[in-house]
Amino acid sequence: MKSRYDVIVVGAGPGGSISAKTCAKAGLDVLLIEKRQEIGDPVRCAEGVGKEALINHIPPDKRWIAAEVKGSKILAPDGTEIKMSEEASSGKAGYTLERKVFDRALAQQAAMAGAEVMVKTRATGLLKNNGRITGINAMYMGETHEIKADIVIGADGVESKVGRWGGINTALKPEDIDTCAQFLVSNIEAGEYSKFFLGEKYTPGGYVWIFPKGKNTANVGLGILGSKCGTVRPISLLEKFMETYMPQGKILEIVVGGVPVSGPIKQTIADGLMLVGDAARQSDPLTGGGIINAMDAGKMAGEVCIKAKEKGDYSVKILKEYEDKWRATIGKELSKSLMVKNLLVKLSDEQLNQLAHSLSGIDTSKMALPKVLPILFRKNPKILWELRTLFI
Ligand SMILES: Cc1cc2nc3c(=O)[nH]c(=O)nc-3n(C[C@H](O)[C@H](O)[C@H](O)COP(=O)(O)OP(=O)(O)OC[C@H]3O[C@@H](n4cnc5c(N)ncnc54)[C@H](O)[C@@H]3O)c2cc1C
Repeated sequence: MKSRYDVIVVGAGPGGSISAKTCAKAGLDVLLIEKRQEIGDPVRCAEGVGKEALINHIPPDKRWIAAEVKGSKILAPDGTEIKMSEEASSGKAGYTLERKVFDRALAQQAAMAGAEVMVKTRATGLLKNNGRITGINAMYMGETHEIKADIVIGADGVESKVGRWGGINTALKPEDIDTCAQFLVSNIEAGEYSKFFLGEKYTPGGYVWIFPKGKNTANVGLGILGSKCGTVRPISLLEKFMETYMPQGKILEIVVGGVPVSGPIKQTIADGLMLVGDAARQSDPLTGGGIINAMDAGKMAGEVCIKAKEKGDYSVKILKEYEDKWRATIGKELSKSLMVKNLLVKLSDEQLNQLAHSLSGIDTSKMALPKVLPILFRKNPKILWELRTLFI
């Protein structure tokens, strides 16, 4: 470890590794640090991604593709099924990853591009000079190190502290976070589709997911919206789901974790600092998916680092290009998803059933969700009136 770099990236998840790779490929001197001793482990993810979006960043490799799914099925509380094709189920269906391997492969790409990677190295604070971020304090093997950099990228996930240290408000209210529990379940027929079960019947303000990880194994999990949690624990609801729908299932792994569902936050940059991925609250408020957004944002942040280096200016004046770019792309989608999520969590199980029934006779299997939503709106204007600005 040196005492100075062009860029320090905190957190070797998908957002951090892509940021580090992008900067290092352009010849910048990059340090990527990860507090855990193994990149990608433990997994806190259901591992579902859209193929097309993923392939923009890394060629598919069977070492980290656990399963390929044909599409997704959304199930209303009464069991009515809406089937969407793989191409149509943008964001979720496509691959179920093996993230332990995937995250490591991404970090390896960053390393191969020239980034220095340090595991078991935790950022414990930011260095500042006249209000500008000038590096980090890091703990490695019980020793504290001051490491300087022109830019720090905070890619430290849902529990991010880098933003807060840099004076950026990343606080999440209870209604801005989904608390999740997931089992890796074996001894079941996993099927060829990702499945989403909607309704209070299963979980308040969230959904149950089943993502196949092979013929007889799947990630089975659920999220509860923080503001609807009460005394209910996600793990208890998940156990109940298992007992009812897959009593023969054998649990091989337990995952618990939180997903930010706040939609775009006000600020993700400061002088000498950028936030990407979950640290910037860029996960989708409706689906909870954040892998692709973290990677896309990581690339955008890396590209702006390169420009900042060329200009020798690391102030918000230059870094604003990152903020503008992600808001115009990822941010727009997050805002739409937030509107849909805010309405969905208010609907009763009967209303969800009604929405599903209204699609009867319509072949949705070749449609993308953005095409299905206007149909739902036309057929159910009263229920979906809050979303009118999306369609009228
Ligand atoms: C139960 C669950 C299911 C999910 N399912 C899906 C899904 O199916 N599809 C999908 O797209 N998304 C899913 N997500 C969300 C997805 O996991 C995240 O959006 C994604 O991992 C964000 O990537 P990231 O790089 O921003 O952060 P992360 O992947 O969280 O990486 C952050 C890294 O920073 C490290 N770190 C934190 N603090 C420090 C520090 N101080 N110093 C050094 N390192 C630090 C962490 O150890 C971690 O490795 C799910 C999340 C949960 C909890």
